[in-house]
Amino acid sequence: MKSLERLIRAFRRLPGVGPRQAERLCAYFLRSPIGEAEEFAQALLDMKENIKLCPVCFAYSEQDLCALCSDPDRNRSIICVVEDPQDIEAIEKTKLFNGLYHVLHGAISPMDGRSAQQIKVRELLDRVKNAAAPVREIILATDPDAEGETTALYLADLLRPLVPQITRIGYGVPLGGDLDYLDEMTLGYSLKGRTKI
Ligand SMILES: [Zn+2]
Repeated sequence: MKSLERLIRAFRRLPGVGPRQAERLCAYFLRSPIGEAEEFAQALLDMKENIKLCPVCFAYSEQDLCALCSDPDRNRSIICVVEDPQDIEAIEKTKLFNGLYHVLHGAISPMDGRSAQQIKVRELLDRVKNAAAPVREIILATDPDAEGETTALYLADLLRPLVPQITRIGYGVPLGGDLDYLDEMTLGYSLKGRTKI
């Protein structure tokens, strides 16, 4: 059954979906009315069509400028640098940060052959240099793993001549893992306990 195998392969490419789950998802769509599959396919296409990257912070956005960058109540002099768009959600939940963000879309990883040129580093430097109001602090909130640390140190060196205060989020957890897996309290604690680097 070629079309079934094709859908199983497609599901298996999704993060966290193994062979058993892929089969279960296919079984679900086989059992349900055609409308269910249409709704799923259309929602996926609409999302791809409508959600773009904010040209300033590179978060996902349905408008030209994202909701955070266009919010006049956010503090423009402080930028929190994260690896992935979902990290913003995690930090917003702590309600302890009122500045703006910058999404790198990855971390420097010599092992995976990912260099600084492949993530949004140049965009961050341009943004800081061309900011209408001076940037007072940059918080490096890359993931607490080897790639995240490497990226934070690399960025700190580049940013030091441009920004008076560069801080690294302090983690109360052992190294390893993703920022967005930390619970709100741990993340809030690490945000408050950030240290100058
Ligand atoms: Zn934005």
